[in-house]
Amino acid sequence: MPEPEREFVIYYGVRVIAGWPERIVEAQTIPTISIGGAEYARVRYGEEPDDWGADRQPCHDCAAIKGQFHVPSCDVERCPRCGGQAITCDCPYDDNSDDSE
Ligand SMILES: [Zn+2]
Ligand SMILES: [Zn+2]
Repeated sequence: MPEPEREFVIYYGVRVIAGWPERIVEAQTIPTISIGGAEYARVRYGEEPDDWGADRQPCHDCAAIKGQFHVPSCDVERCPRCGGQAITCDCPYDDNSDDSE
């Protein structure tokens, strides 16, 4: 038997993998992030300095809607400390398991 294909669901008009809407809900319970021992308020979708289309559509990467927090590891989420891309910036995220610094 081949492995079953991943199932998709439509969430606010965006195709996401099954179970993803629950991850978005879960992301809303994490309003801050710890970086270098300090707590920072996470940047909600639509609060980024760049226009990612929050007024027109859900986040293209994690399907959050305007005013929601992105799902952790979303490539749109900004770093509240440096303003860069949260998943690629060099800030010392305390919950980052791969300790590169
Ligand atoms: Zn997102
Ligand atoms: Zn940063």
